[in-house]
Amino acid sequence: MKVFVLFVAVAVATWQCQGSDEGDDHGANFQIFPLRMKTGLGGHYIPEVSCQSWMLGVEAHNIIGFSTVPKDCIGYIGNYLVGDQYRSDSKTVCREAYFYLKTLNITDKDAWVFDIDETTLSNLPYYADHGFGAEPYNPAAFDKWVDLGAAPALPESLKLYRKLVSLGVKIVFITGRPLSQRDVTASNLKRAGYDKWDWLITKDPSIYNGKTAVTYKSKERRKIEEEGYNIIGNIGDQWSDILGTNVGGRTFKLPDPMYYIS
Ligand SMILES: [Mg+2]
Repeated sequence: MKVFVLFVAVAVATWQCQGSDEGDDHGANFQIFPLRMKTGLGGHYIPEVSCQSWMLGVEAHNIIGFSTVPKDCIGYIGNYLVGDQYRSDSKTVCREAYFYLKTLNITDKDAWVFDIDETTLSNLPYYADHGFGAEPYNPAAFDKWVDLGAAPALPESLKLYRKLVSLGVKIVFITGRPLSQRDVTASNLKRAGYDKWDWLITKDPSIYNGKTAVTYKSKERRKIEEEGYNIIGNIGDQWSDILGTNVGGRTFKLPDPMYYIS
């Protein structure tokens, strides 16, 4: 009896591994996993699985140009951002930056580029009230939030900033925030603990109106390098912070599942 059961088990396993001979020659009997993967005990739908896949797609820059977070994922993304995972992921990114810094001989011409929103400052208090990116972007409401100058620091980025300052690295902030929000951004940075910098670059609409963040940030980084500085590192939450030219010796991508800026 035992031998028979073993035989059946091996036969079933072999069939499952090879696929049946029915159908075409390309193993098409294996269903390609749909995005809404059925899993778990009983094969029922677990939204977390597809939301996690969606987030991975965003972080890997496979999903681009999205305007809102999928409605089904509000809970998943909210839990991610306000829970420990976001902090842990950010810590992992910054730890790699420390390892990288250890390999360098820092000079007084070395500079480090920080993005601001979702990199040095966190707008989570705002997004928590606006569906964590599931609501369409509302520029008037967001500007009102920015103008409060109350955004807290991302703790891991603040720690990295302090390390860089202690090493004598020049600090560069380049943000997509407009020139009109420069003063409130400066006071917000100070309030959050970023008390000094060498450049705080905001987007001048007379030069960059209609231009992408990649174009704007590349040009501003180039200006700094043309002044004789060497950008050793660059950190941001958007791919547009770290793509383009003059991106720096190494780039570091912080997580941001809430919005996409090209
Ligand atoms: Mg940002």
